[in-house]
Amino acid sequence: MMRLLGASLLDGTGAELRTGVAVEIDDRTIRSIESDGSTRSDATTLDLGGLTLMPGLIDAHAHHGIVEVHDADRTPLAVIAARVVANLARTLDAGFTTTREMGGLDGGFAAAVASGLVPGPRLLPSGPLLCTTAGHGDLSPAFLPHPTHSHDRVPGLVQNGHPVDGPDAMRQAARNAFRHGATQLKLCISGGVVSHTDRMEDVQFSVEEMRAAVEEARDRQTYVAAHAHNVAAIRRGLEAGVHSFEHGTFLDAETAALMAECGAVLVPTLTIARLWMNDASAVPPERRDRVASLESGMSNAVRLAKEFGLTMGSGSDLIGPEQTGRGMEIGLKADLIGAMDAIVSATAVNARILRRPDLGTVEVGKRADLIAVDGDPLAEPWLLADPERVVVVIQDGRVVKDRR
Ligand SMILES: [Zn+2]
Repeated sequence: MMRLLGASLLDGTGAELRTGVAVEIDDRTIRSIESDGSTRSDATTLDLGGLTLMPGLIDAHAHHGIVEVHDADRTPLAVIAARVVANLARTLDAGFTTTREMGGLDGGFAAAVASGLVPGPRLLPSGPLLCTTAGHGDLSPAFLPHPTHSHDRVPGLVQNGHPVDGPDAMRQAARNAFRHGATQLKLCISGGVVSHTDRMEDVQFSVEEMRAAVEEARDRQTYVAAHAHNVAAIRRGLEAGVHSFEHGTFLDAETAALMAECGAVLVPTLTIARLWMNDASAVPPERRDRVASLESGMSNAVRLAKEFGLTMGSGSDLIGPEQTGRGMEIGLKADLIGAMDAIVSATAVNARILRRPDLGTVEVGKRADLIAVDGDPLAEPWLLADPERVVVVIQDGRVVKDRR
């Protein structure tokens, strides 16, 4: 039993800050939230005076396994594995207690984290990133057939691009993803920025191919998430039953309304757009023109989603060897739609999108994933982008970071 005292509470439900409360956790669960005058002698106390207590953050669009972007061919697999592990630790240190892995990282890492072997967020893996031949994610040289093994396709470690063509192949690939520990599936249904052989405007996968994945996911009580920048891809995805649309860069009002009507969700990824804008060297020279439209498009999508009452999650899409600044997503979104909505998006709404009703808020009965931060994130949402200001992290009822 542990009693958390002295902090202001921002519970993630959208309720305003509360003071003078004590939160009691026991056996990985939040047991009570009461006024801190009541005393319990059998509990260990954690004095969080001056801090703000809130739910552990959730990143609904992580790529812990995309650690090599340029020189991957020459990087030893051991180095890739070590970078993944280091990035998992960084993620937890930044206050993210859960991430949805949007493609590539093997489910084995979820087991490694869950068993306490390495510190990291609770991982919801998607298994291999499913794409079409010549689509976003197919990075193989055109003069070779798709290799079963390459720097970014190492079964059991990372499988960043897995080309699949035809509904039957999709069914098999989906089942294979579940064999690799996927909790949902990830498809690339439009062109992307870091692609060799497509344009952002392109649509990828037929309705039948997407539907095969959707059916396989539904049979396992889960869903399909899809990388989609343009509205033609989103509309085709809606027709096939895709649930979670990632990026949504060129979203328009009609499509936002249609998504809301279908009960689909949007996960914009403002962080990667900003990072690419700030550092052009991160993107190959011939793809830099694509970056220009990314941030303005996605910012517009965020505003539209709010206007149309579309469920909007929070994802960073952070890639690279040293993944820092995951909490930027909340600051960037707060600048567009306000701090409260940005925070709720990265906590309660993300939990709902991930179909984890046990996560995302500080309420009795929920999983004890909590963070205590130095300052008021409603007044200063960008503090969540600074791991130094994430003072305490509690995951599954255990204190995993304490810088008091
Ligand atoms: Zn992504």
